[in-house]
Amino acid sequence: MKKPFVTKELIDSIVKKYPTPFYIYDEKGIRENARALYKAFSWNKGFREYFAVKATPNPFIMKILMEEGCGFDCSSYNELILSRAVGARTTDMMFSSNATPDDDFIKAYDLGAIINLDDITHIEVLDRLTGIPATICCRYNPGGEFKTDGSPNVMDTPRDAKYGFTYDQLIEGYSILKKHGAKQFGMHAFLASNTLTNDYYPTLARIMFRTAVDIRDKTGIEFTFINLSGGIGIAYRPDQTPNDINVISEKVREAYEEILVPAGMGDVAIFTELGRFMLAPYGMLIATAIREKHIYKDYIGLDACAANLMRPAIYGAYHHITVLGKENAPCDHKYDVTGGLCENCDKFAVDRMLPEIETGDYIAIHDTGAHGHSMGYNYNGKLRSAELLLREDGSIKLIRRAETADDYFATLDFANGKYDL
Ligand SMILES: *Cc1c(COP(=O)(O)O)cnc(C)c1O
Repeated sequence: MKKPFVTKELIDSIVKKYPTPFYIYDEKGIRENARALYKAFSWNKGFREYFAVKATPNPFIMKILMEEGCGFDCSSYNELILSRAVGARTTDMMFSSNATPDDDFIKAYDLGAIINLDDITHIEVLDRLTGIPATICCRYNPGGEFKTDGSPNVMDTPRDAKYGFTYDQLIEGYSILKKHGAKQFGMHAFLASNTLTNDYYPTLARIMFRTAVDIRDKTGIEFTFINLSGGIGIAYRPDQTPNDINVISEKVREAYEEILVPAGMGDVAIFTELGRFMLAPYGMLIATAIREKHIYKDYIGLDACAANLMRPAIYGAYHHITVLGKENAPCDHKYDVTGGLCENCDKFAVDRMLPEIETGDYIAIHDTGAHGHSMGYNYNGKLRSAELLLREDGSIKLIRRAETADDYFATLDFANGKYDL
């Protein structure tokens, strides 16, 4: 059973000031998880997590992660600005983008972020725009199919992914970068997403470690870091077993000692760029049941919609739901829980067994701390919700206000900012 980190009583008191829908994040959970990650990888001297900003681009959340030692993985100009505003400097930032605009390269270079090149042609572009920085990283795409060792298996198809250099391009690319004066080299790869197996990172690490040794031998470059990127998943469903970061780290260490240490590469730092694993379980979308209808099926309509959380609509993603105050009631009613978009895919849950829901009940949608609010949009004129932080001392802090109609209309030049034409 999944237990929400808020109670009905707490939400009752919050809504007096901040009406639903809103996202709420759990500072305690975020900090404990970040500490567990660092502890697990403490065997590696240079270990660092670069939080994937796109997952939860809120400066207050980012600040917490920075206090826990994390840097930031940025993929756009504005994510760089945001990270810088939070206090990140130079190598506190990785810049992993693709189809990168010139301005983004220039910004990343000017800020001293570690640039992770997505393609061999980007070497020439970067050289023309800014010159090649002393520290540089390349993204590897081994092609073919990726399958984890062990079971259950996770499969993905890198050959269909738009990212990264081929193996031959890596050899050529690193050689060119070396000629252009780069001194410190990194390698990056992201081959499967939301993996629910302790074998994803270890399998990936073996591929990358072997490739790194091989490239070092062929080009003479020395790697200072290997970035295992994101992809560690979470147990969205209550019957799934969560990943164990200690087991994951231990298996990566085995690969490190088997492959890198004997090759004289025992000082290579391990970087990660986790997003989902760092934040998803520590955020919830809280909505109110505002309508019910009974036609061929039974529907509960919320004041939140897919514009607030699009994962169920676009991926059919499962998010667990708790009806607050009814945690122990029998789940003997079958509902579709919907938002109000004029789109039939706007359903947070389909045929879900839940306690009997009355209008006014608070609905907690679990595991939405990553790739939740950040994927919000304004379809149907819907507004993005507020974000709140449940602090370790139990207090509530507003960390992003809800959008208003003025925000929605801000890009239209109505006379005097008024809405009459
Ligand atoms: C999205 C992304 C991540 C984070 O992925 P998660 O699945 O949230 O762990 C890390 N690195 C890059 C380059 C990404 O695009």
